Amino acid sequence: MIVGICGAGTMGRGIAIATLQAGHAVVLYDLQQHAVDEALASVRAALTKAVEKGKLSSEAAERASAQLQGCSTLDGLAACDLLVEAIVERMDVKHALFTQLEQIVAPTAILATNTSSISIAALASPLQHRDRFVGLHFFNPAHIMKLVEVIRGPETSQATVDLCLSFARELGKTPAVAKDVPGFIVNRVARNFYNEAQRIVMEGAAEVPQVDTLMKGLGFRMGPFELMDLIGVDTNLDVTKSQWQQFFLEPRFMPSLLQQQVVDAGATGKKSGRGFYTYPPTTGKNEPS
Ligand code: NAD
Repeated sequence: MIVGICGAGTMGRGIAIATLQAGHAVVLYDLQQHAVDEALASVRAALTKAVEKGKLSSEAAERASAQLQGCSTLDGLAACDLLVEAIVERMDVKHALFTQLEQIVAPTAILATNTSSISIAALASPLQHRDRFVGLHFFNPAHIMKLVEVIRGPETSQATVDLCLSFARELGKTPAVAKDVPGFIVNRVARNFYNEAQRIVMEGAAEVPQVDTLMKGLGFRMGPFELMDLIGVDTNLDVTKSQWQQFFLEPRFMPSLLQQQVVDAGATGKKSGRGFYTYPPTTGKNEPS
């Protein structure tokens, strides 16, 4: 299968690694050629790292690398059987991409979105072939995390859902079918993890590192602030805003002023080298590890 991945940022890169390791060809698309080139280098570096760690044979890494291409114009995606969109969490931008993609790809191609929170029904609404549109929600880092939510829109066909379930399993993932509600399952639960942590800090009840340390002491792999930095503080804020709006401004999901201020200051997390924490240059910029 040829898998087109739209958006070569944090998630696009991780999804590309997982897809290549499962033996599929990948075309990675982003708006600017320099972003595509940087992402291709980053994905290839991750494959090399997997060989060094003994997780991938050098032959498999070479095969995967040869199956990877990039493009900065949509016509480069024409031959893809499955398109996975991982661009900015904004409905208008995703609509624009999908309506153009529908004109370019084969009538049998599946269009999947990695949205964290936006309604699948709403994303599908301007499309002609809504039966082939589906949510395919990976978690960060996408080449490592096992869970994938498959979200059926009101018109998504069973064949489309089945293809996504078997694709996720081929990638070694554990897919779960989720209903099309804001934030689906995991992000809805997780909003409280991020939002309450920020309320605690804004009230002066604890400092950022203290909250993270205590949550890890409780058994979480990462604290809420470390996780927001990994996700992208900007992306995480977009998801919170989207979910809050879809729940008609439900106070439980209200975004935090603290997070808005961090994003306004350009501190988008690990990918920019600073978020709630600062990072040495080598760990920044979307490097999958
Ligand atoms: P990111 O900011 O790291 O990367 C987004 C990429 O998309 C950038 O390279 C950008 O240049 C590109 N882009 C933006 N608009 C585009 C367009 N119109 N056409 C092509 N490329 C475009 O974002 P991300 O963290 O990878 O998130 C991408 C999507 O995945 C979002 O919908 C987000 O909600 C979702 N998601 C993110 C995470 C996470 O932890 N970061 C987890 C699950 C799902």
